Amino acid sequence: MTTSKDFSACVAQYDPNALPVEAAQEIVRQWAMPRASNAQTERVSLHDALGRVLAEDVISPIDVPAFDNSAMDGYAFSGAALARSSGSDTIDLAVAGTAFAGRPFAATPGAAECVRIMTGALMPAGCDTVIPQEHVTRAGDTIRFAAAKIRAGQNRRLSGEDLAKGKPALLAGRIVRASDLGLLASLGIADVSVHKRLVVAFFSTGDELRSVGETLSPGSVYDSNRYTLFAMLKRLGVETIDLGVVRDDRASLEKALREATARADVVISSGGVSVGDADFTRELMSSLGDIAFWKIAMRPGRPLAFGRLWSGARPGAGKPALFFGLPGNPVAVMATFYFIVREALLAMSGAAHQPLTVIRARAAEPIKKRAGRTEFQRGIATREADGRWSVVTTGSQGSGVLSSMSEANCFIVLEHARGEIDAGEDVEIVPFDGLI
Ligand code: AMP
Ligand code: MG
Repeated sequence: MTTSKDFSACVAQYDPNALPVEAAQEIVRQWAMPRASNAQTERVSLHDALGRVLAEDVISPIDVPAFDNSAMDGYAFSGAALARSSGSDTIDLAVAGTAFAGRPFAATPGAAECVRIMTGALMPAGCDTVIPQEHVTRAGDTIRFAAAKIRAGQNRRLSGEDLAKGKPALLAGRIVRASDLGLLASLGIADVSVHKRLVVAFFSTGDELRSVGETLSPGSVYDSNRYTLFAMLKRLGVETIDLGVVRDDRASLEKALREATARADVVISSGGVSVGDADFTRELMSSLGDIAFWKIAMRPGRPLAFGRLWSGARPGAGKPALFFGLPGNPVAVMATFYFIVREALLAMSGAAHQPLTVIRARAAEPIKKRAGRTEFQRGIATREADGRWSVVTTGSQGSGVLSSMSEANCFIVLEHARGEIDAGEDVEIVPFDGLI
């Protein structure tokens, strides 16, 4: 386990009050080692495996396909017939029988013979080539086709060409996708070993917060962060513990942090880390654990506390949990989740590195940007007639404007050193949607 001394060493080279985003990501990466409890695995059936992290390589127990078979509906024959016919433009073969998928042709056709064959049917003995039916004219039990239409070995799927027996079909750390479920089924595998789900506890802080179902009094707002966090965590496949709204007082916060640390691998709070609250929270944190940094040079998301808390009476005692104290503003919660928290949760879940998809796009309008911080603006990207992407912002970039996230389809990521962006300049975007 990393000690708090190593911890300070990796932070010391930076200003913890305004850490560049890359430095913050690197520190989080170093701290987000896979949990000891990753040794705990469970076997789940295919239907329950979607989105889970494979704990072991899956070795193919069979060749897929298990036998050479036809890739087309047509006629199977020996490619040697093509060599023999050199000089003549057409080839004539006698049809000796039919091979269906699941109903092979049992005999061996002769040199001047072929077999009517359907897609997926076992290649008859001695046959290595399939001429698609649309290239063939058939008269009675004879077919004729132009020799130029085909080369020996074409339209045959080779045994093991998809997956070879004894070779890894999927690697440990893989997050199981739709295609993987099909692939596992194609191997006849009914269940797989996956890591136990990472447990993440989260809560909101703020005297002004009301939960859905309560009545709003003057000056109060509904707590939206717990819902956004719940959804983002669910999508990552972790187990969630919702600890509700915590009032802005030391005793309530300490109780929530202790309970969360005792019950979860990772604790995420929102609110209470901005300038006004920082001192009180900071003092509490140092009594519960180590805090690596408080502020990141990013917008939205500048106040962000990251470190490790302990459930025992003092730091080092009891059980540790990684802690992310996210800002309260709803857009900041989402930006910091995707660019600071996400990778750590995946690594701790045992997943292989899953880089975000980054695409180049042309700014269709000027974008306001201040040098000295990374900005994650909300963008609407469209594909132009020439196939390139262009992007505009959603307008108001206030970190409380959650509707900007619903309106946008991407983050526009503007690097630390960059200033104002002119129309026509290239920028990087991270799309919200992935395909599978
Ligand atoms: P804070 O970081 O606690 O100073 O909060 C910054 C802003 O975010 C304030 O306007 C809060 O009312 C708002 N805020 C904090 N937590 C939440 C939440 N859970 N849901 C909606 N808004 C919040
Ligand atoms: Mg607050």
